[in-house]
Amino acid sequence: MNIILFAQIVVFTFITIVTFFFFFKRSKAVYRNIMLGKSANISGSKVARIKNMLLIAFGQKKMFKNPLVAVLHIAIYVAFVITQIELIEIFIDGYSGHHRLIYHAIEHASVLRSLYVVGVNTIEVLSVLAFIATIIFLSRRNLLKLPRLNMAELNGWAKLDANLILCFEIYLIICIFSMNAADTALHFNKTGSGYGFMLSGMIAKMIYLLPHKVLVVWERLGWWGHIAGVLAFMLYLPSSKHLHILLAFPNTYFARLQPKGTLSNLASVTKEIQLMMNPETAYAPSATAAEPERFGAKDIQDLSWKNLLDAMSCTECGRCTAACPANLTGKLLSPRKIMMNTRDRMEEVGRNMDANDGKFIDDGKSLIENGYISVEELRACTTCNACVEECPIMINPLDIIIELRRSLILEDSNSPEEWNGMFANIENNAAPWQFSQQDRLNWADEK
Ligand code: SF4
Ligand code: SF4
Repeated sequence: MNIILFAQIVVFTFITIVTFFFFFKRSKAVYRNIMLGKSANISGSKVARIKNMLLIAFGQKKMFKNPLVAVLHIAIYVAFVITQIELIEIFIDGYSGHHRLIYHAIEHASVLRSLYVVGVNTIEVLSVLAFIATIIFLSRRNLLKLPRLNMAELNGWAKLDANLILCFEIYLIICIFSMNAADTALHFNKTGSGYGFMLSGMIAKMIYLLPHKVLVVWERLGWWGHIAGVLAFMLYLPSSKHLHILLAFPNTYFARLQPKGTLSNLASVTKEIQLMMNPETAYAPSATAAEPERFGAKDIQDLSWKNLLDAMSCTECGRCTAACPANLTGKLLSPRKIMMNTRDRMEEVGRNMDANDGKFIDDGKSLIENGYISVEELRACTTCNACVEECPIMINPLDIIIELRRSLILEDSNSPEEWNGMFANIENNAAPWQFSQQDRLNWADEK
């Protein structure tokens, strides 16, 4: 084994081990941050959950409200997944120091060889489709300026993140074609025939007359560029909205199965109402019944882990905001921003814990105000569920809004003056109006 080859194996092994180490470290932090939430009530049929996961996360069913965008998105997604097959050979070659080890191991077995060639051709066709889709997505964001992709909450890192990943996709595709085309040209010059790759074979026909050394460097640049890109993507993924590639699966599996309009009532409040509505038969509160620690949620630790998984899974696509009647009528509320702010606060709490040996030290902040979600935003929600309906991966921004609003009202008595009269009426009359229950049907006696 020559010294250059040995050095390549050492470098390759080193960077893959370092990358996997940091990927798992960061993934562990993401998991820890999600589990900062309270327990969640996950009920209902497992079969229905698996069906949701297969149809909505894997099949991207909800994206088909706009079939063209759905097809483009699927092209990128499938290309990304299928390309990982070619990575198997890249990893084997990297660790062994061989070149196209799998191909050379099966090149005399015609069926296996044909399967290999079909596999690479599939990857190349999907890569071209993904390339076209990526250009269209970049244009939609930056040239056509689609309103939901250019709102104020995306300024800064969010916009950069979205563009970076699309450019990254283009970079990976260029690397794959560089690697396959230069390799095909070298193979042709050596054996008189190519591998049978259709698209990169066409490029190889244009470059095979280049000097041998140029082709070798070209192929190596493509190979190293591709693997370096994939490893960089692994490091980048847990800090990016593109984590939805992975989290969409558990998120759709654990999504609520109950009808969207169903609100989860607070048990303690429900008992109070029962007692008020039906004092004779209602449950009599026991002297030992524990009061909840907090009504609603003030910070991320008061939300459920499912709420936090929602926030980490958000793709920042803005479909929720584009359908939100509050946002459409010029209010401050954007359900996408609710998810982004929740995620930002999770990250802040996580950093606080990292800096304090895993313990959270009170920083005097919470998810309400402090540069996160304002009271004005929370009050603007009509609880219409349009955001929940629109989300392509079954995220529920309304659940978080309700919990934060409960805290505002039940803990801080922070409600607009107009609502207080209604609350007093509900408390005194079990109805929002200023009449006692007994007087409800008086209108029928009026002449
Ligand atoms: S439930 Fe609230 S946040 Fe969601 S779309 Fe309706 S008004 Fe907007
Ligand atoms: S909550 Fe859903 S619809 Fe809204 S931005 Fe996130 S992924 Fe898109």
